[in-house]
Amino acid sequence: MRQRYMLCSMKAIQVHRAGGPEVLELTDLPKPSPGPGQVLIKVEAVGLNFADILSVAGEYLVRTRYPMIPGMEFAGVVEAVGEGVEHYQPGELVAALGGSGAFAEYAVVSSRAVVPVPPRMSAAEAAAFPVSYFTAYFALQTQAQAKPGEWVLIQAAAGALGTASIQIAKALGLRVVALASSEEKLTLCRNLGAEVTLLSTQDNLVEAVKEATGGRGVDILMEVVGGAGFAQSLRMLAYRGRLLVIGSASREMAQMYPVGLMKGNQSVIGLWLTPFLSDPAAMQSAVQFLQPLVASGQIRPVVGQRFKLEEAAQAFELILSRHNTGKVILEP
Ligand code: NDP
Repeated sequence: MRQRYMLCSMKAIQVHRAGGPEVLELTDLPKPSPGPGQVLIKVEAVGLNFADILSVAGEYLVRTRYPMIPGMEFAGVVEAVGEGVEHYQPGELVAALGGSGAFAEYAVVSSRAVVPVPPRMSAAEAAAFPVSYFTAYFALQTQAQAKPGEWVLIQAAAGALGTASIQIAKALGLRVVALASSEEKLTLCRNLGAEVTLLSTQDNLVEAVKEATGGRGVDILMEVVGGAGFAQSLRMLAYRGRLLVIGSASREMAQMYPVGLMKGNQSVIGLWLTPFLSDPAAMQSAVQFLQPLVASGQIRPVVGQRFKLEEAAQAFELILSRHNTGKVILEP
């Protein structure tokens, strides 16, 4: 009987209360089975997002209900499909973007959340793709309506969204100013094609950005840090510049004086990936843009540090300590 239970169980990371890395508990849970319209996937790689940290802490845009298993994007092999699922077969490598549940050996998701993995892409690369690349596309193309030749400033540019954004910006013909907190990170940004790289900690950052852009400032700024630095970001904008509010890694409130936007005809624009995921026309345009770039190798996810499932807390700590590069991956 005990052996039968073990065969149907799986390792997972479960969270019972809001907190930091210390609330991630390794546990045995029953292996899930797919219901109608669902796909059971053996998880091979989970892409970590800053949103996972916020979600575990109960600070994300949607309310966290505990107990929960974190993990919103992953890749793995289809193990079984539920009634009515026709497009996926057991044995196929797929990527998925569900709300949570990927910090486990197996995960069940709606077949609508599953996408095939292109040839030659590894499970880790596939797990690093959906959140960062779709966000970068919707930010730069859909929300900011970027035009070739414009300057974009990318904060946390060596991270998961940052590295994806450099690649998408280059594909859109933009000129990139990359900001990051260490020289090692800036080297990575330069290797990806950033034209100007600046330490986010340096003095006179606004002046340095203005100087690098011929005195104008940047046309688009991807704001992911928030807090006290937000006001500084606004000062880096060019005439008709667009500041995209994408995240708040500082987890601090930002303040702004909206009337200050008038003089330069500037805009502050919000961007959240989630609503776009259920907008078929938006998704179609993103896929049409991204697919050929993936096929030609022009964009390729930067896989950063890798951890085992039981090391999830260390992976969170790495991101919180700001030593991560590319997409941090968990491998169950
Ligand atoms: P990253 O891989 O970029 O890791 C987070 C990075 O944020 C760190 O490496 C660090 O880079 C930077 N950072 C700045 N200040 C802090 C701080 N106080 N604590 C920790 N990190 C800090 O993560 P993601 O790619 O997952 O996300 C990046 C940002 O984009 C987050 O704010 C996230 O919420 C947001 N995001 C928003 C989405 C949306 O739909 N709106 C979708 C995806 C991401 P450095 O040290 O170089 O500054």
